[in-house]
Amino acid sequence: MIRKLNSSKRIALIAHDHKKIELIEWSVKNKASLVQHQLYATGTTGRLLQEALNVSVTKLLSGPLGGDQQIGAMIAEEKIDSIIFFWDPMEALPHDPDIKALLRLAAVWNIPMACNRSTADFLLSSPLMHVDYDIQMTDYSAYLTRKV
Ligand code: PGA
Repeated sequence: MIRKLNSSKRIALIAHDHKKIELIEWSVKNKASLVQHQLYATGTTGRLLQEALNVSVTKLLSGPLGGDQQIGAMIAEEKIDSIIFFWDPMEALPHDPDIKALLRLAAVWNIPMACNRSTADFLLSSPLMHVDYDIQMTDYSAYLTRKV
């Protein structure tokens, strides 16, 4: 099974509160590359990104209010191609189950995902970010046709 990504990717950006400054700094530094793609974000991250980059960002709900779940659903619906998610490894958050669910769906759908700044550098500088790309999907047909 193949999932096709266009050369212009739909990238979701999310940062937890203690990681927001880092994500904004990284985004400003990488603005020239980021603006070649369509940007989506959880509510607060999106507002800060839009102010810092002066580009349009599609803002979903704030993460703890359902934004992470919205992005997870969009991954499953093939409406998000990649995520850059600076999550906070030093703090438990009220929406930890939502965060886990989002990371799980990104793995299920095998989309490019960066969870820290150095991986985000590697991801955005990849030549594959600027060409059409076929994601090789895990074949879930045996699961879908299982006898229950
Ligand atoms: P926020 O959500 O961008 O609305 O702060 C991020 C999160 O905590 O998941």
